[in-house]
Amino acid sequence: MIPVVAIVGRPNVGKSTLFNRILGQRKAIVEDLPGVTRDRHYAEVNRYGTPFTLIDTGGFEPISQERMLIQMREQSQLAVEEADLIMFVMDGKEGLTPSDEEVAKMLRKVEKPVLYVVNKIDGAKQEASLGEFYALGIEELWSASAEHGRGVSELMDRVLELLPPCAPREEDSEETRLAVIGRPNVGKSSLVNRLLGFERVVANPVAGTTRDSIDTPFIYNRRRYVLIDTAGIRRKGKVSLALEKYSVVHALKAMDRAHVVLVVIDAQEGITDQDLTVAGYAFEKGRAVVLVVNKWDLVEKDNATMGRYLEKLRISFKFLSFAPVLFVSAQSGQRVGKIMATVEKVAAEFDKQIQTSALNRVLEEAEKTHPPAVFQGKRVKLFYATQTGVRPPTITIFVNKAEGVHFSYQRYLQNKFREAFDFEGSPLRLIFKDRE
Ligand code: GDP
Ligand code: GDP
Repeated sequence: MIPVVAIVGRPNVGKSTLFNRILGQRKAIVEDLPGVTRDRHYAEVNRYGTPFTLIDTGGFEPISQERMLIQMREQSQLAVEEADLIMFVMDGKEGLTPSDEEVAKMLRKVEKPVLYVVNKIDGAKQEASLGEFYALGIEELWSASAEHGRGVSELMDRVLELLPPCAPREEDSEETRLAVIGRPNVGKSSLVNRLLGFERVVANPVAGTTRDSIDTPFIYNRRRYVLIDTAGIRRKGKVSLALEKYSVVHALKAMDRAHVVLVVIDAQEGITDQDLTVAGYAFEKGRAVVLVVNKWDLVEKDNATMGRYLEKLRISFKFLSFAPVLFVSAQSGQRVGKIMATVEKVAAEFDKQIQTSALNRVLEEAEKTHPPAVFQGKRVKLFYATQTGVRPPTITIFVNKAEGVHFSYQRYLQNKFREAFDFEGSPLRLIFKDRE
């Protein structure tokens, strides 16, 4: 796992300024799932080849002094539990406060490296105000100006020294790559902004880039994901919609590199041929799929609306019967928080490995209940099954006459395996092989 660095401190001391300063401009953010991690911001930073996850624990409104202290304690506790290193930020302009002292007292008992940082030391003149902070009895006191970048580089060097030795960067195959696909105006960019944290994205514009694709890594539930071609999804406004023809090729290219494809549909407009083409491609490529019906807020609803819609969708996307369907509103944020939870589940299914013994119990049972039809006067016999691949899961079944397994029987076996092992969101491939 990548080590975690958490920034804690009172409101307004400059935590988020420091967070952004450390990230630099190009390193877009990362996660701020509505409702899930409201007051935390995550980013993956890579400095001199050392990756770490940076958490900004800020983001709450100070209500009262008392309430603030409680929140600060909670946040620091959380940081202490999750982080490998803590940066405790104080405000050099305001001076040392009682709450700083209290948190510092707590942090000193922690058995993890803690860096005490006095921020807003914008120049040599302000350095005099450092003095009072030495009352904390801390040997290593850092001064910085997050706003002007002063001292931040030195601070980061120290962070790297103190980080626990990092396991080698996870293989590329460890990450789950996501592609967001759909016609213009269905709300892809709104969804992506929601998923990655809206404000952060605005603060880190990628405008002006000449590259036509930018991937955005992010962390969800301690797992690594990469959103493919974030820039391409967001790039808009410049070209009029009439000119901006939806490029299927673009979508196909993104899908080629993806593990999980989010197919976004406009709830009001319904399914179009283009949606079907693109989803069909995802299916053929053996990608995991989540169907996202966006703009659900615009649909007039009664109790039966969602059920009816789902039925229609299932008929249109017959080949995607395994794909979960989410009804969301990127605008209100409704159920958007479910998207990553679903992606996580689906990605796990996509990667799932079933024991040979379990597969064969299902195969035997299926054959007993409903044996394959006779082929060219000969009984078709299923010998055994074994999983020969993941991403997508692939099961090879050895038979006496592979060409004798009728398509409908293949589908029957598919269903039996799915009943037993789920594979939700993931295609399931069956390969039939001759065995003498
Ligand atoms: P947070 O609530 O701890 O995340 O604090 P912010 O990062 O939002 O900063 C609070 C205020 O302090 C903002 O107005 C910043 O512009 C300002 N600020 C942050 N860092 C510095 C700094 O290094 N020097 C000065 N002078 N102001 C800063
Ligand atoms: P993209 O072209 O697929 O990236 O679509 P955008 O994200 O740019 O959204 C197109 C338009 O639909 C914008 O005006 C959005 O504000 C709007 N929109 C996006 N999601 C929703 C939603 O869930 N509900 C409503 N009512 N409007 C939405």
